[in-house]
Amino acid sequence: AIWFLAFSDSVCVCVCVCVCVCVCSAGLNKTVRQHYLSLAQGAVCLVTYIWIDETGENLKCKTKTLNTEPAGLQDIPEWATAWSTDGRLVEVLLIPVRMFRDPFILDPNKLVLCEVLDSNRVPIGSNQRSQCDKIMEEVKEFQPWFGMEQEYTLFDLDGQLIGWLPRESQETQGFNRVVAGRLYGRNICISHCKACLYAGVKICGTNAEAIPGQWEFQVGPCEGTEIGDHLWVARYILHRVCEDFGVIASLDPKPSGVNSGTSGCHTNFSTKEMRGEGGLKHIEESIQRLSKRHSQHLRVYDPHGGQDNIHRLTGLSSTSHFHEFSTATACRDVSVRIPVHVSQKGCGYLEDRRPASNCDPYAVIRALAETCLLSTTE
Ligand code: ADP
Ligand code: MN
Ligand code: MN
Ligand code: MN
Ligand code: MN
Repeated sequence: AIWFLAFSDSVCVCVCVCVCVCVCSAGLNKTVRQHYLSLAQGAVCLVTYIWIDETGENLKCKTKTLNTEPAGLQDIPEWATAWSTDGRLVEVLLIPVRMFRDPFILDPNKLVLCEVLDSNRVPIGSNQRSQCDKIMEEVKEFQPWFGMEQEYTLFDLDGQLIGWLPRESQETQGFNRVVAGRLYGRNICISHCKACLYAGVKICGTNAEAIPGQWEFQVGPCEGTEIGDHLWVARYILHRVCEDFGVIASLDPKPSGVNSGTSGCHTNFSTKEMRGEGGLKHIEESIQRLSKRHSQHLRVYDPHGGQDNIHRLTGLSSTSHFHEFSTATACRDVSVRIPVHVSQKGCGYLEDRRPASNCDPYAVIRALAETCLLSTTE
């Protein structure tokens, strides 16, 4: 019995040590890290290159030391990385397209969003930015503005939705609430917002969402392609903030293990005419055009040709139906909505509520511009 007790004690110690190591490495001990961050780095500048990977959904990054601080994109060299295509690993080019301040290792260090080109300098599969940019160039006299509302859910490292209480109903509404026990992760929301502001990302608001552990931030308004750049970098910053807190942000439109609650990326859109006096007429005209190309839009409003949105757009929890287009003023279970303050003022913007939380903003705004501003017929 004594032997058994001693043995079980040591097993116990062993387990404790393991748990401890896991917890520490998840956060990579921020107190210790602070010492290294405060060390002088001389005249050099660390530039973190960020790009959308093969999935069109996830981001990757790597960091390069430059001898001096870049004043702009022209001072940041192209780089290269590995890319898997058709079961082969090829080399592709990373082309800097937008620079931000680095909110993690601070000034003078930078984050730079990159486009990915193949060795013939052609944008590769999942990189939809250049096609988007081409359309935005064609419609630039309309001065198209976009604002996107990114919803996300927080999971702990074991894959549990944060704040999920098995005994209780998941229907509990946390929307905009200020209450302990129903809201989880406010520190992430606040830290992410501050980091975006430091970086120069145009974050314009945040709120708690419907289920515990679900949050939203908004980016915009931005003109043309810029919204895609800012949203992707805001997503990068979100994942990095979550890494520091030891949690995972999921952009899954129908987070697994969650019965109710879905995540979207509502996209708000306006032109110079819609924003001016009598703009409502132009908003309604665009909605009319959108109603005729519903299925074409749903094909590009998630990264899987509509497969994700089928499970999200069910008509429940403030969503519309996948198979039919609907519109209304001051109503939230429709495909496209005219916000109440827009209808009262008679001008402003429309809100397309169909894009999924994991959408590619370049594909979404391109479809909006093609349908509403160009005479696309197919
Ligand atoms: P909701 O009431 O749908 O939750 P939010 O306040 O979350 O609205 O988001 C509003 C979004 O609309 C923001 O992303 C903002 O940038 C965007 N927005 C505001 N004005 C315009 C405009 N004129 N054109 C396009 N987008 C706009
Ligand atoms: Mn290597
Ligand atoms: Mn919102
Ligand atoms: Mn929302
Ligand atoms: Mn919205």
